[in-house]
Amino acid sequence: MLKSLVVNGREYRWPQSPTVVICVDGSEPAYIEQAVAAGVMPFMAGMLARGADLRADCVVPSFTNPNNLSIVTGVPPAVHGICGNFFLDPDSGAEVMMNDPAFLRCGTLLAAFSEAGARVAVVTAKDKLRALLGHGLEMTPGDAVCFSSEKADQATCKTNGIDDVLELVGLPLPSVYSAELSEFVFAAGVKLLESQHWDLMYLSTTDYIQHKHAPGTPVANAFYAMMDGYLARLDRLGASIALTADHGMKPKHDAAGQPNVIYLQSQLDELFGPGRARVILPITDPYVVHHGALGGFARIYLHDGLEVDTVAEKLRKVDGILEVLNRVDGCTRFGLPPDREGDLIVISTSEQTLGTRAEQHDLSQLKVPLRSHGGVTEQRVPLLLNRPVDSTVAGQPLRNFDAFYLALNHALTSA
Ligand SMILES: [Zn+2]
Repeated sequence: MLKSLVVNGREYRWPQSPTVVICVDGSEPAYIEQAVAAGVMPFMAGMLARGADLRADCVVPSFTNPNNLSIVTGVPPAVHGICGNFFLDPDSGAEVMMNDPAFLRCGTLLAAFSEAGARVAVVTAKDKLRALLGHGLEMTPGDAVCFSSEKADQATCKTNGIDDVLELVGLPLPSVYSAELSEFVFAAGVKLLESQHWDLMYLSTTDYIQHKHAPGTPVANAFYAMMDGYLARLDRLGASIALTADHGMKPKHDAAGQPNVIYLQSQLDELFGPGRARVILPITDPYVVHHGALGGFARIYLHDGLEVDTVAEKLRKVDGILEVLNRVDGCTRFGLPPDREGDLIVISTSEQTLGTRAEQHDLSQLKVPLRSHGGVTEQRVPLLLNRPVDSTVAGQPLRNFDAFYLALNHALTSA
C-alpha cells in the first residue's frame, strides 16, 4: 500500500481509516455554535471537546461550486479554474454555466486516490455538482461511486458506480428544495460505510435551510439535530471526520423584510450610458428560488474605452459596496483565474446584495426575508474534526480546502 500521494502539489498521507469530509452548504459558524448551545447536537458537543474546533476561510467568491471544487482539489480557483456557478466566456461573449468538467483545470484528489487504489465515494445533494466532483473517477461498483440525492433514482452502475440507491438508503427521493435533500446525503454516507470499507468519502449538502432560516431558529436547529445523528453514526463506524462549509450566510434584508439590493447594471447604465459595462453575477444558476440570484459578488466587464479606475472610483462611493478591485488585485487576493475574471470585482457589505436590473430578478419566489452569500463577509466557516489535530496546526491560517489535508495528515488517530 502507498504511504502517501502527491496531488496538485501537496503530499497527502494514505488514509488509515475511512476519511469522511463533509461540506455543509452555507453553514455559517453560528449554526453549529447555536445548535450545540441549545443542546440539540449532543454528538457534536462531545466531538468538539475531543476533536478539533477550528475556523477557516473559504474561497471568494463565496459560492458553492468554487468552494466545493477547492475542497476536492485542495487548491484555489486560480489552479482548478472553477470561479463561479456562471461566468462570461471571453471567446464567445456568452454567459455560461460552469458545471461542465471541461472548465476544470486540474484533477481532484478523489480521482487521484481512486486511481492509486483507494475506494472513493462521493454524494452530493444537487446534481449540478456531480459531474465536477466525480470528474476523473472511473465509476466502479464497490470502488468508485458518485451520485446526487436529487437524481438518486436515476443512478446507474455505468454513470455512478452504483444503482438501486433508494433501496440502499431506505428513504424516498427528496424534493430538490427541501431539508431532506441534504438528509439523504448523510443517510447515504452512513449506509455506504455500513455496507463496506471506503477510504475516502466526500459528502456535500445544499443550503436550502440556511438560505431561509437564521442560526438558532427552530428549523435550523432541527436540521443540525438531524445532522448530529448521522455524524454520530459515521463516528461509530470508525470514520475520521472533517466537517467544513463552502461559505457562510448572512441576512440581506431591511427591517421590513425586503431584500437589500444594489442594482449594479442599472447604476452603471445611468452613470456611463447603456452598453458600456456588463455585470455578471456568478451566483446565478438554475436553482435561484431561494436567493433570486442575489449575492455579494459581481464581475464587471468594461467596453467602449471605459476605464477601470473611473468606474472603480464611482462605485466605491456607493453605499453598501464594501470593495471594488481590479482584475489583477482581485485575482491575487482571492486566488482566482485572471482569464475568467471581469475587469472589476465588486463586493457588497454584509447586509447588502448585488443585482443587475430590478426586472431581471424574479423575487416573487422569495417567501422569507433574503439570506445570501458571495462576498468576504461570508468567508469564515467551521472546520471541525472528530479527532484532535497535532500541535503544528495551531495558529496556522486555515482554508476550508485544507479539510482533506488536515484529516489525512494532521488528525491524530488515538483520540
Ligand atoms: Zn453553497
